[in-house]
Amino acid sequence: MKYVSTRGKAPVLGFDDVLLSGLARDGGLYVPESWPTFSAAEMKRLRGLSYTGLAVEVMAPFVSDCLSREELAGLVARAYAPFSHTAIAPLKQLDTNLWLMELFSGPTLAFKDYALQFLGQAFDHVLKKRGEKVTIVGATSGDTGSAAIEACRDREAIDIFILFPNGRVSDVQRRQMTTVPSSNVRCLALDGTFDDCQDAVKAMFNHTAFRDRYNLSAVNSINWARIMAQVVYYFWAGLRLGAPERPVVFSVPTGNFGNVFAGFVAEKMGLPVARFGIGSNSNDILTRFFETGAMTMAGVVPTISPSMDIQVSSNFERLLFDLCGRNGAEVERMMLQFRQSGSYALEETALAAARARFSGLRLSDAETQAVIREIHATTGELLDPHSAIGVEAGRRLTGIEPGTPVVCLATAHPAKFPQAVQDASGVYPGLPARLSDLFDRPERMTVIPNDVAAIERFVAEQVES
Ligand SMILES: *Cc1c(COP(=O)(O)O)cnc(C)c1O
Repeated sequence: MKYVSTRGKAPVLGFDDVLLSGLARDGGLYVPESWPTFSAAEMKRLRGLSYTGLAVEVMAPFVSDCLSREELAGLVARAYAPFSHTAIAPLKQLDTNLWLMELFSGPTLAFKDYALQFLGQAFDHVLKKRGEKVTIVGATSGDTGSAAIEACRDREAIDIFILFPNGRVSDVQRRQMTTVPSSNVRCLALDGTFDDCQDAVKAMFNHTAFRDRYNLSAVNSINWARIMAQVVYYFWAGLRLGAPERPVVFSVPTGNFGNVFAGFVAEKMGLPVARFGIGSNSNDILTRFFETGAMTMAGVVPTISPSMDIQVSSNFERLLFDLCGRNGAEVERMMLQFRQSGSYALEETALAAARARFSGLRLSDAETQAVIREIHATTGELLDPHSAIGVEAGRRLTGIEPGTPVVCLATAHPAKFPQAVQDASGVYPGLPARLSDLFDRPERMTVIPNDVAAIERFVAEQVES
C-alpha cells in the first residue's frame, strides 16, 4: 500500500516512511492511496478471531509493503500483551440496543493506548531494521503524554521528551508520566500553558538544523498508524453485534476527529455502519459544522472533559479529502482559507454526504454530569465525562432503523477524572489494582522555563549523554 497526502503535493510514500514522518511535507496528512475492502464472506470468517487475530487481518493490507504477516503478528502480540482485560475491548450491554465498548484496559486507562502501544512497537521495529534512532518530542494536555511514554519506554532506538504545562494537568495524569523510571523518558514541566508547550514543540520542528541533528519525530494523532490501529475495534464490535448481515451505529466522543475517522475507514473497508454519532463538549466546532455547513474557529473553554478541549479537529482533513472526491488542490484551498479567515464552508453535495453519515451533539458540563448520574443510577456503570458525552450522543440519534445496536465508545476509565465523576455520581472511582500505588511511586521531572533555547539545550544534553 502506498500513501498520498490530502493536499496532493507531497511525495507518495510507503508505510514505514509515513510512520516515521507523521505530517506530509505539503502540510497535509497521509491517507492510503485506496481503501482495501472485505467482502461479506471474508467478514464472516473474521468473526471467530481474537482481538489480536483480527488486528492482524485488518491492518495487513495497509502495511504489506513493509511488514511480513509474521512481523505484524509479533508487533500486535507485544502491543496488546499489557492490556488488563483478556477481551482487549470488552462490550457491555447498557440497555436493549445500547452497548458500551470499553477502551480503557490499556496501561494508561484511555483509548489512546490502542493506537500508541502499536505505534511504539512499529517505531521500534522499523528503526532497528534501518539502524536509525529518533528523538520524539511531544506536548500534552493530559492523556496523550502518558500513552506515548508507556509506548516508548525502554526502547533503545527512541528518546522521548514530553512537555506538559506545569501545575495544569491532573495529579493522576502527571503521575502517569513522571513515575515511569525508564532512562529514555524525560518529562518536562514547562512554566506556561498547553499552547506554550505546543508552540515550543513546533519551534523545535521548524528549527531544521536541530530537527535533522536529533532526528525529531512525532506521535500525535495526525500519524496515520494511529488511525489504522483504531480501525480494528470498530470491526471487533461490528462483527460481534451483527456484521456483515446488519449494520450498527457507533457513537464517539470527539476532539481531533481521529477516533471517529477510524470508524469511517472501517465503513470504507466494508463494515456496515448505520450512522456515526459524534459528541462534543462546549468546544463544539464539529457539531456547529454539521448544523451549519461552515467550519468556524472559536476560543477554547475549559470543561470537565479536557481531552476534547480542542478547537481545530486536525483529522477532519482526512474526511474532507474523501468528501471532495480526493481532490488535493480543493482540500488545500479550504485549509488555507481556514488558516487565513478562521472559517470555510463545504459545498452542498459534499455537505449532504457528510450529514448522511455523521450527526453531532453538544453537551454542557451540567448535562454531562446529569448523564453520568443517570447511567450510574440505572445501570451501576460509572462513566468518565468523555464517555458520558459519547453515550448521550448515541441515545439521542434519530432516524435509525428500530433494533439497530448502538455502540458507544468509552474512551477513558472513570478514575482518570475522579473529581468530575464523584461530583456527578457521589462515588469516587478508585484506580485499578495495577495502578493503585501510583501515588506512592517516586516522581521524576524537570521544571523548565518557557524558552525554546533552554528546552533544546536540555534535549541535546540528554540525547548526547
Ligand atoms: C483524546 C481523547 C478523546 C478525543 O479523541 P479524538 O481522537 O481526538 O477525537 C476523547 N476522549 C478521551 C478520554 C481522550 O483521551
